[in-house]
Amino acid sequence: MSFDLASRLAERRAAQLYRQRPLLQSPQGPSVQVDGRELLAFCSNDYLGLANHPQVIEAWQAGAARWGVGGGASHLVIGHSTPHHELEEALAEFTGRPKALLFTTGYMANMGVVTALVGQGDTVLEDRLNHASLLDAGLLSGARFSRYQHNDADSLNLRLQKAVGNTLVVTDGVFSMDGDLAELPALCAETKRADAWVMVDDAHGFGTLGANGGGIVEHYGLAQDDVQVLVGTLGKSFGTAGAFVAGSEELIEAMVQFARPYIYTTSQPPALACATLKSLELLRTEHWRREHLSELIRRFREGAAALGLELMDSPTPIQPILVGDSGRALRLSQMLRERGLLVTAIRPPTVPAGTARLRVTLSAAHSFEQLERLLETLGECWPLLANEDAAHA
Ligand SMILES: *Cc1c(COP(=O)(O)O)cnc(C)c1O
Repeated sequence: MSFDLASRLAERRAAQLYRQRPLLQSPQGPSVQVDGRELLAFCSNDYLGLANHPQVIEAWQAGAARWGVGGGASHLVIGHSTPHHELEEALAEFTGRPKALLFTTGYMANMGVVTALVGQGDTVLEDRLNHASLLDAGLLSGARFSRYQHNDADSLNLRLQKAVGNTLVVTDGVFSMDGDLAELPALCAETKRADAWVMVDDAHGFGTLGANGGGIVEHYGLAQDDVQVLVGTLGKSFGTAGAFVAGSEELIEAMVQFARPYIYTTSQPPALACATLKSLELLRTEHWRREHLSELIRRFREGAAALGLELMDSPTPIQPILVGDSGRALRLSQMLRERGLLVTAIRPPTVPAGTARLRVTLSAAHSFEQLERLLETLGECWPLLANEDAAHA
């Protein structure tokens, strides 16, 4: 028996890195039932509270009644149906790009786009804190792969000077584990000077940033000439599932021809596209969710700073509390859970070693009262954690 899984698992456990899946026994929302208990959750990516919205559910149900439940085939065979097509047109209009292409998941969109654009003899440059799907895609592409320092245009510039072939610069729009924004104006300027392309994965920016929820490119006012390849995912603010890439006609046509995770997979259920069309409408037109969310963010940062918690430089609903050690992060998460709150500890390799954190996320579905309860409970647990440290010292 050569696969020594038992010792790999034991090692992971000993390093406080073992993962467990909380069992969700209710729909997504601020109040959830998990492992048999009612908990107040601050860890989903359902930033606008659309994952369980009655109108989105209704659109899905009506879509299933009209279009059935399965996509039935890949897009290029006979799985590309009217709801998929309408959603693509709506996403192109939303992003202000000539075309958009729907993918089944964000992981697949990133894998497909990067590997279709660059290969052997080319260069892919990525922020070192990019999402795993982007890093995996860069490695799989076979292009020369290098990571620049986080959000550092000079570090990027050094690598651009040594780049060969077609060069793609890839960054998260909002960094998923830190909540800060890519410094796109500077990064795009460097990239343009080097005649390279920028790809932004704005999984967490769409719906939360920009006056109309158009994400980081709307926030900074950047055009297709600055960000040639724009990726969004539908499982976060949109509350559904899937992803899209938006860009020029030529880019999208090239993805249809060459992006293997687009070509060799069954299309997502058409009814899901019907649901996303509805959530896109809500996301664009009902601004109160973004306004409430920014009030929650402001209040959380103010309250957490007063408690002496170490926050990150984040203007977004992702508000991690830096803890450092993985065991301590788990312990703090457990203390909160004992008091009825669910905030997951995020540990390496998802984040760099020594930077374990509680990834607090806020949603427009949270009330101010729920937020105060989080702050009060953190105020109670944080000193307890410090006391435990002192006892062990
Ligand atoms: C969640 C996420 C993805 C993956 O999207 P899925 O649709 O969940 O596969 C990709 N990139 C970033 C930055 C993400 O946060």
